[in-house]
Amino acid sequence: QAKARGRNGYRFYAPSMTGEGVQRLRLEAYLRRSLEKDEMFLNYQPQVEIDTGRLIGVEALVRWNHPELGLVPPGRFVPLAEDTGFISQLGQWVLREACRQMVRWQEAGLVVPKIAVNLSVRQFERGTIVATVADILRETGLEPHRLQLEVTESLIMNTGDALAHINGLHALGVSLAIDDFGTGYSSLAYLKQMPVQTLKIDRSFIQDIHEDVNDEAIAIAIIQLGKSMNLAVIAEGVETDEQATFLLRHGCNQAQGYFYSRPVMPDDLQRRWLP
Ligand code: C2E
Ligand code: MG
Ligand code: MG
Ligand code: MG
Repeated sequence: QAKARGRNGYRFYAPSMTGEGVQRLRLEAYLRRSLEKDEMFLNYQPQVEIDTGRLIGVEALVRWNHPELGLVPPGRFVPLAEDTGFISQLGQWVLREACRQMVRWQEAGLVVPKIAVNLSVRQFERGTIVATVADILRETGLEPHRLQLEVTESLIMNTGDALAHINGLHALGVSLAIDDFGTGYSSLAYLKQMPVQTLKIDRSFIQDIHEDVNDEAIAIAIIQLGKSMNLAVIAEGVETDEQATFLLRHGCNQAQGYFYSRPVMPDDLQRRWLP
């Protein structure tokens, strides 16, 4: 019947489903098929020891290459995947692919000390995250201590059984990092209770570290907090030598950012970081 009215697509949309609404629906439909169409892949961004320049790990970052839309940034599709629930599938795919890549590197005799994978709050809501991670570790054969899971403060504050899940993950032998630390709306009390090993200073504090005394004060405070709680501290979004020097001077010896490398394909990482 729709066809009988011609090919004028607009006729069949409700008035509210124009512009952004349509785009969103289209993106949603594309996204749902992205995995079966093999459009997702991972980039890896080096994490570096500042004083030696040594590779201490990589963060896996998901990328979506759609044949029509091109490369869609995660800032656009990760929130959408979270809204629609697709993130459970996507997150599981990312975990498996990241662990597989680590094993590939190991089998090639290349040493990547650890891999960090981002987890979304929705992956905790189903209550199966511990089993999922355990299954993927078993299936891929990656040693648990090679895997670091990144969670945000809001994930911790907004997940009912966050403590139980995080204890469960810790019991598997994986490590945990708090991503975007300092930007979430959270109480610091959770840091005492949770088996967390690493704080990642958010990029927003690093960016203007030399122009903004408040950002400088916050970065220093996070480094101190990490030190006194025996946590590793890594700075995100390091883009300049000056920022790296500042961090080192204040006792933070781990960094990730464009100054060292953008997120890259496995081949590139191999060539430049795993000679
Ligand atoms: P994030 O986990 O905080 O990841 C760091 C982001 O900062 C990455 O953006 C990275 O490319 C970018 N970045 C790194 N160094 C620099 C720098 O020096 N300067 C600037 N301007 N940016 C830098 P990306 O890859 O676009 O990812 C954005 C966010 O999307 C991530 O933030 C994370 O929250 C989310 N994300 C990415 N991959 C995944 C995933 O597999 N699962 C989930 N749940 N979220 C993901
Ligand atoms: Mg992250
Ligand atoms: Mg971050
Ligand atoms: Mg983040």
